[in-house]
Amino acid sequence: MSVRTYGVTDPISTANPTPKENSLNDALIGELRSRGSFESEQATKKRVEVLTQFQKMVQEFVFTVSKKKNMSDGMAKDAGGKVFTFGSYRLGVYGPGSDLDTLVVVPQHVSREDFFTVFAEIIRKRPELEEIVPVPDAFVPIIKIEYDGVPLDLIFACLNVPRIPLDMTLDDKNLLRNLDERDLRSLNGTRVTDEILQLVPKPTVFKHALRCIKMWAQQKAVYGNVFGFPGGVAWAMLVARICQLYPNAVSAVIVEKFFNIYTKWNWPQPVLLKPIEDGPLQVRVWNPRLYANDRLHRMPVITPAYPSMCATHNITSSTQKVILSELEKGAEVVRQINLGKKSWSDLFDRHDFFHHYKFYLCVVAATVASDEEHLKWTGLIESKLRHLVLKLEVTEGVELAHPYVKDFSDSYVLGDANPSDVIGAYGTLSGQPFLDTLAKSDDSNKGEKQIHLTKLFVGLNLQQLKSVDGVKKLNIQYPCSEFYNICKGSGFYDEAINHINIKNVKLVDLPDDVYVEGEVRPTKNSKKRKKEVSLDKQKRPKSTISTPPVSVNGSG
Ligand code: ATP
Ligand code: MG
Repeated sequence: MSVRTYGVTDPISTANPTPKENSLNDALIGELRSRGSFESEQATKKRVEVLTQFQKMVQEFVFTVSKKKNMSDGMAKDAGGKVFTFGSYRLGVYGPGSDLDTLVVVPQHVSREDFFTVFAEIIRKRPELEEIVPVPDAFVPIIKIEYDGVPLDLIFACLNVPRIPLDMTLDDKNLLRNLDERDLRSLNGTRVTDEILQLVPKPTVFKHALRCIKMWAQQKAVYGNVFGFPGGVAWAMLVARICQLYPNAVSAVIVEKFFNIYTKWNWPQPVLLKPIEDGPLQVRVWNPRLYANDRLHRMPVITPAYPSMCATHNITSSTQKVILSELEKGAEVVRQINLGKKSWSDLFDRHDFFHHYKFYLCVVAATVASDEEHLKWTGLIESKLRHLVLKLEVTEGVELAHPYVKDFSDSYVLGDANPSDVIGAYGTLSGQPFLDTLAKSDDSNKGEKQIHLTKLFVGLNLQQLKSVDGVKKLNIQYPCSEFYNICKGSGFYDEAINHINIKNVKLVDLPDDVYVEGEVRPTKNSKKRKKEVSLDKQKRPKSTISTPPVSVNGSG
């Protein structure tokens, strides 16, 4: 039995599991297994082998650079170098599709430039290498590779020390002194995951409970930091706090308490895993008493490693409502599971986002250039989508603006077609016949001019609208044009190749392909498809605007 107190308060209960709880727990793990949450032992062994090889390559890398700096063989060898992991692999909640998030730590005389040249060269020589994409200019500079069937994200940090021995740990905050911003950002992921694991009483209980919560959050589409929902680290900390409060409970009990506690949580009271620490750097630590911005966080979940930050600063009023509503539903399902009236699989029922709302906005991003150019443009637009949500939330008539957490993409050969016609047709039922006349991009037409398209969805709940001249009107001109300005004002926008457009679609207009793999196709409404409501005022066919009579303006 645990005696240590974990976290900022005493535990709520130190009770050991009952036979009933143990059997619920077995059922939960069985359900996770049958849904493919765990990968095979063999695949995990492969990851370990790959990591061992990378550890050797990192030492070779540091040795090579050290020798170039005229160090003796002995000193160059002692300079060391070490790989750390973070992300789902480090947290022990990775599945068959997970990447291996890896941090390469080197001593002071090895530079980031060396990482992108000398180290990249060492990797390129390996026969196991399948693909390598260095992204040196990213916010967190990264080398993305596919190695022996394993996708790896490699990031880099250089510490102010002459040697990085194999037993090096990153918990000492004094290691952060005088580091480059990018090194600090790169170190953060590993430092946070390492601390979370140290702050939970039983790591295995935590990992299984987190697998359950991650699967639930993904099924309910409430997973994803960029879109205004908690991401992997935030959900991990939320689960970790419950583990601290019930140190001897099994995962099934942690899951039950998770829903019960977070539906009653007194937000914006922060979720903390330990007291917030001060430290040696001139950087901001989360502090709502000091910083007005921090007071705006609606559901703060604070990272434990110095410098503590809020992992959920992206949550908006709408996404908070969606999260709370899903937590409420989860609490009810778990109650029914406890009564024997439902099973764990009911907790993982898929969301109904695409038939929940009467109105949806469809943001279309397009690029007439390479795939990479389009990725940059859509990355920017996705990262700004929550600004559109924030602007919609304060628009008269909008009760809730619910962003969907995934995008949908297609590429066509442009040929003689006009990009604006393609963009206009994309994402609408009436435009589909036109799109069908274009060839989809594939290996055979790579040399031809392509148009890449991506759509994102925001579901809208509208209040009773005031009637103006007999028409009930919602004007979203302002939020849309503000959003266009934000996107076009960014350094990423290239007028010659990038496009953005927002259209509104109704429930019944949602095109077939928004239903992704694994998603249950709706049965209701599927026969009642109607024409989309055009955004263009002149062309808007009034008769198709059914109840409530709402017109949406906002073309750009
Ligand atoms: P998966 O099993 O799908 O790989 P994951 O939790 O490992 O899940 P990743 O997308 O691989 O998620 O990200 C790993 C870690 O990298 C995150 O936990 C986070 O710490 C960091 N990270 C990823 N993307 C960003 C981002 N855009 N900004 C800041 N940190 C990020
Ligand atoms: Mg990962």
